Amino acid sequence: MFIDFETFRDRADKLRALMADAARAARRDPAEVVLLPVTKTHPPAAAEYVARYGLAAVGENRVQETVEKRAQVAAALRWELIGHLQSNKAKLAAQHFDRVQSVDSEKLINHLDRAAGELGRVLPILLQINAGNDPAKFGAEPADAPRLLDAALAKKNLHVDGFMTIAPLSATSEETAEHARRTFANLRTIRDDLAARTGLPLRELSMGMSGDFALAIAAGSTLVRVGTALFGTRE
Ligand SMILES: *Cc1c(COP(=O)(O)O)cnc(C)c1O
Repeated sequence: MFIDFETFRDRADKLRALMADAARAARRDPAEVVLLPVTKTHPPAAAEYVARYGLAAVGENRVQETVEKRAQVAAALRWELIGHLQSNKAKLAAQHFDRVQSVDSEKLINHLDRAAGELGRVLPILLQINAGNDPAKFGAEPADAPRLLDAALAKKNLHVDGFMTIAPLSATSEETAEHARRTFANLRTIRDDLAARTGLPLRELSMGMSGDFALAIAAGSTLVRVGTALFGTRE
């Protein structure tokens, strides 16, 4: 059985308190860091809870799952794609998502721009960078970030809000923490360099999940994507 709203509310309250602690420890304003609950694999009720709790958006990792789920959720929410997107699903993604965080190739940029143009909208995106150089992760290579950004900035139907990354997992938890720290610091540096070069804010740094959100906030995250700590383990 899926959790009830009170359980979700208690977990969200605790998580937000920990996020605020992490922000203050880094001498940051807690209001700078947004919680994006990740509702993938969970029933439509998960998204309803998020809206009832007062948060504005949810993260999903599959296009088709979201199309079906979104049709069953009456609450006003923004839906963000955080999972890998194939170019042949770009049109569907542009139709059903309010932002795509997982943009990692020029081909995908071209497809999303065309799809957004056909819909007469400007689609907000993040560029996903494999900032931990993890062979098991999607995302563009750090060295390709400038080229990818230039390609996206040239598109009039896309708006680049910033960057996203996923930290690698390792054999031991200390190793994982060290990899995560390095990954987040790397994305932050990439963003700072490209913001300086282009003169654009590129403000959003989507980094941090259930296991590493505090490290991400210490490194400058503006958005943490959390599933397990809110909704429990996925099947
Ligand atoms: C599933 C997922 C998350 C949430 O992970 P948890 O460990 O359950 O918090 C965050 N980001 C991405 C890209 C995901 O696919």
